[in-house]
Amino acid sequence: MKSSTTFDVAVIGAGVFGAWTTLELRMAKLRVLLIDAYGSGNSRSSSGGESRIIRMSYGDAAVYTRFAQQSLPRWIELSKQNADPLFDPTGVLFTALPSTPHFEHSRATLEKAGIPFDYLDNSTLCARYPQIEFPDNSVGLLEPGSGALMARRAVRAVAAAATKLGVTYRQEAIFVPPAKDTLDAVFTRSNGRIEAGQFVFACGAWLPRLFPHLLKRLIHPTRQEIFFFGAPPGSGQFSPPSMPIWIDFGLAVYSFPDLEGRGVKFAIDRHGPAFDPDLGSRQISAKSIRDVRQLATRHFPALAGAPLLETRVCQYENTNNGDFLIDRHPDLRNVWIAGGGSGHGFKHGPAVGEYVSAMVRGTAKPEPRFLFVAQPATWERSIY
Ligand SMILES: Cc1cc2nc3c(=O)[nH]c(=O)nc-3n(C[C@H](O)[C@H](O)[C@H](O)COP(=O)(O)OP(=O)(O)OC[C@H]3O[C@@H](n4cnc5c(N)ncnc54)[C@H](O)[C@@H]3O)c2cc1C
Repeated sequence: MKSSTTFDVAVIGAGVFGAWTTLELRMAKLRVLLIDAYGSGNSRSSSGGESRIIRMSYGDAAVYTRFAQQSLPRWIELSKQNADPLFDPTGVLFTALPSTPHFEHSRATLEKAGIPFDYLDNSTLCARYPQIEFPDNSVGLLEPGSGALMARRAVRAVAAAATKLGVTYRQEAIFVPPAKDTLDAVFTRSNGRIEAGQFVFACGAWLPRLFPHLLKRLIHPTRQEIFFFGAPPGSGQFSPPSMPIWIDFGLAVYSFPDLEGRGVKFAIDRHGPAFDPDLGSRQISAKSIRDVRQLATRHFPALAGAPLLETRVCQYENTNNGDFLIDRHPDLRNVWIAGGGSGHGFKHGPAVGEYVSAMVRGTAKPEPRFLFVAQPATWERSIY
């Protein structure tokens, strides 16, 4: 066995949940180790994408509105310290048919939380965004202060900020030995032993592999495809401020404007098939490209014939009801699970980090929705 080192907390997984957690633990003066098998923001991780939406509209799930509201200033602060921006205030436009419950609940929650937004009736919506074909009668809710997080760059900036503050980082693949009541150490594939007082597993879609008995029925990784279409040359109609991020939960589609010249991002927000985060193929079929091009052109007629600049395959790590799963391991009292981002976790990184750090230090009031006991027995395939 190689020599061991003792930390107050070892955080396994340097995605957005693990990176913010280590930063918060270190700010609380703990000795912290951050470990990742492939590196922070790697292409297999859910946090390793080009961009992620930060929005406040969450229907009546006020805890996520609060978490997003708490997180945005932290992202902006970090963005100001970074050479390249991590946040682009594109605005986020959420559309729906009139009286759709999720839309009306979002509107009420935003009002209650004092978050600025504009309600756009159908004629205002169509006049303001002529480049988007909305379903007939759609109405809109525009959050002007929300926007895009440059995900891979942002998560790497968080991990760098943590190491600058004194967090130790190692690139290692961890496995968990059998243990009863308390976990003394974890092991690396190269046979290293890592000891810590407490362990936080923030391993996204890999969590069911590390804890199969506990998590294989609670976290379901699914394959998700992303497409970037080239905007017409010299045209600002697909760039901010002319075009915001657009989400329509009824249609289950979302799009980003052309950010940093990468193309107009378009995706379907339905759960794809089961996916292996290590070995799953990240190529996209010709049929998928045809189907998505047809859908994208229906909503953005000016993109007809646009070149497909890039595609990406990523995985959601869905819990049974779409809520985060952040709780103490039921059998190991010094082990914490921090996962279940379920396709909407990135924006909440700062608030999740604060919350996990407080849970580990015993100062948090547990959020009932995030606990094991709140998870239904079967997968309901909800989408936030
Ligand atoms: C296509 C797509 C679009 C999305 N859109 C949005 C959006 O618009 N807005 C939003 O807020 N969220 C969005 N999400 C969700 C969000 O990206 C995720 O919820 C979030 O990134 C999850 O972060 P994480 O830290 O839990 O997991 P990850 O980012 O996957 O990080 C887990 C890390 O653990 C490491 N790891 C795993 N096993 C081990 C091991 N044994 N040893 C060491 N390290 C290990 C991995 O290498 C990885 O880096 C989207 C997700 C996808 C896939």
